[in-house]
Amino acid sequence: MEEDLRIEELEKELEEARKRIKVLEGNGADLFLNNFKIPSSEVESLKDSVIDNTHYPLLILDEELRIVFSNKKFHKSFSLSPDEINGEHIYQAGEKQWDIPQLRNVLETILPSKSSMTNFEMQYENSRSGSKYLTLNASEIKLTGSNKKYILLSIEDITQRRKAEIKLEESEQRFHELFYSSTSLLAILSGPDHVVEIANDAIKDVWGKGYDVLGKPIAEVLPEIVDQGIIELLDNVYNTGEAFQADEMPIEHIIDGKSKIIYFDFTYQPQRNRNGEIIGVGVIAHDVTKQAILNDKIKKSEREFRELVDLMPHKISMADAEGNTMFYNQSWLDYVGKDFEEFKNEDQLDIVHPEDKEIAAREIEKCLSESSNMDLELRIRDKDGDYKWHLVKAIPIKEQDGKIHSWISSSTEIQKIKEEEKRKEDFLKLVSHELKTPVTSIKGYVQLLTAMLPKQKDGTDKKFPLKPYLKRMSTQVEKLIRLIAEMLDLSRIEQNELDLKKEKFSLNRHVKEIAEDLSYSNKDIEIKINHELECEVHADRDRIGQVIINFVTNALKYSPDNNQVNIRIFEAEKDKVGVCVQDFGKGIPDKELNNIFKRFYRVSGNKDDTYSGFGIGLYLSNEIIQRHNGNIYVKSEVGKGSEFTFVIPLNHN
Ligand code: ADP
Repeated sequence: MEEDLRIEELEKELEEARKRIKVLEGNGADLFLNNFKIPSSEVESLKDSVIDNTHYPLLILDEELRIVFSNKKFHKSFSLSPDEINGEHIYQAGEKQWDIPQLRNVLETILPSKSSMTNFEMQYENSRSGSKYLTLNASEIKLTGSNKKYILLSIEDITQRRKAEIKLEESEQRFHELFYSSTSLLAILSGPDHVVEIANDAIKDVWGKGYDVLGKPIAEVLPEIVDQGIIELLDNVYNTGEAFQADEMPIEHIIDGKSKIIYFDFTYQPQRNRNGEIIGVGVIAHDVTKQAILNDKIKKSEREFRELVDLMPHKISMADAEGNTMFYNQSWLDYVGKDFEEFKNEDQLDIVHPEDKEIAAREIEKCLSESSNMDLELRIRDKDGDYKWHLVKAIPIKEQDGKIHSWISSSTEIQKIKEEEKRKEDFLKLVSHELKTPVTSIKGYVQLLTAMLPKQKDGTDKKFPLKPYLKRMSTQVEKLIRLIAEMLDLSRIEQNELDLKKEKFSLNRHVKEIAEDLSYSNKDIEIKINHELECEVHADRDRIGQVIINFVTNALKYSPDNNQVNIRIFEAEKDKVGVCVQDFGKGIPDKELNNIFKRFYRVSGNKDDTYSGFGIGLYLSNEIIQRHNGNIYVKSEVGKGSEFTFVIPLNHN
């Protein structure tokens, strides 16, 4: 009996449970519950918690599209509370947030057709939860034992995934654009046969085999490269994983049946998959044909230049901006009997004659610090230990911005010229010594004869027309005496015996007297003196006079068509006086201005018979002024005239 009651009770419970399950089945939760044996009392709450805890946001709508259920995930995802939406029409829910054209479209498709829609993607814009990408799954639910229909909307928030996909698409697009619009030559060759997987238009154009090259092995696309070792290079990169790089490598291509050499800078880079296995070779190349041809020309001309420079008897060298030698031509190396490396590491001054070392060091220092040209004569030791005179010239090579890039120097052996000069000098010294006494006596006799000539009453020389000739003789003898004096001065300078006899005198008066003397012996000339400064100097009167006479006689000598000479005495700078002699003669070319103060130097083109002289006047003048702690300056313009100025300290004790 008890047994029967128990069975009856159990059957009731079972029936009750079946009913509940059926209700639940209609609500779509059967899926979760059919497989479990759950007491009917727990089914309701289980249903709620299962749906609530479902990973996706869920909505259940009735036939009028009113929200009858929304789960926690939905509230959280869209920042909507159940009160705001439950019972609301879907399009009105949450202040019309869900009136979305794509959603309308889905629901209005479902309702008439009773079908279900899966994975419908839509974009959701809302001020509360922002922009989202969603996938909708909508299906119609029918409850057993009821005519009512419901729609289950499960919503998947795919925003993060979608944004990542969009980013990927964009970056792929960018890569695509970069790859295809790049002027670099780009291709990816895959597999051991180097099949052209990707190639941009630039590389296809250079290959010259049309655009239909994808999917073909490179050896088939460019058969001409097979015998040029290119496939071996690709094989090596593919097999070893070691990248290969080449600069200005010439590769022969056959384009429209014609052979063409193209120079490339290129890299073959191994391509790997995620596991690190090599799957292909990336090609990045640049057509550098123009540059390579240019470089080739430069190299060729440099070779030619070196050969030319090596052939020259002059010693040529090149140094960097700091003066470190980078190149010596063959003449240099032959002269010192050393090879480049050995000679390069030596101190340049080592081979300079001990007496010339100081001036050489000073000049080199001056050139480097002032970026100026160098021009000096030095004795340089050869491989046998003998010193030979050289004319050493150096010029800085400047960049466009004026910065020094390097130095070029040439050293020309002038030993023979020097010996010749020495002979000339010795001869002149001897001659002048020998001439001095007879010429001085001639001068004395001329003066005596002039004094002995009787004067006519009217002061004329009618009866004795000798006087003008004696006067001319006297002028010529004066010239000869001056020349002899210069020659003797030359040897005095050489032996360092040119002593100054300093005294205090008026420079203005001295200039005036010299001008008067010169005008007296040459009536045609016109000397104007401008005394801007009246001053006394402490100097060697005769030597200063010698300089002024040299300036003025040169001014007259080199102005064949003009007799005017202007002299200006002025304050050159504080405590210094300048004397400037200006003429309107033939002038001196710029390139000669540095040379005219050298011994025996005469500007070429001066015909000896037109302008007599030995080229020692200015040399002596310069020596004299330097011994007075002064300087000589020259300004000149060819065809217009010259200005020679000396500046000495004022009244200097
Ligand atoms: P010389 O006159 O005896 O040749 P100098 O030493 O006095 O020697 O002058 C050197 C050179 O400088 C001259 O040969 C001449 O070419 C040039 N020179 C000097 N003064 C002038 C001048 N006033 N005008 C033009 N050239 C000049």
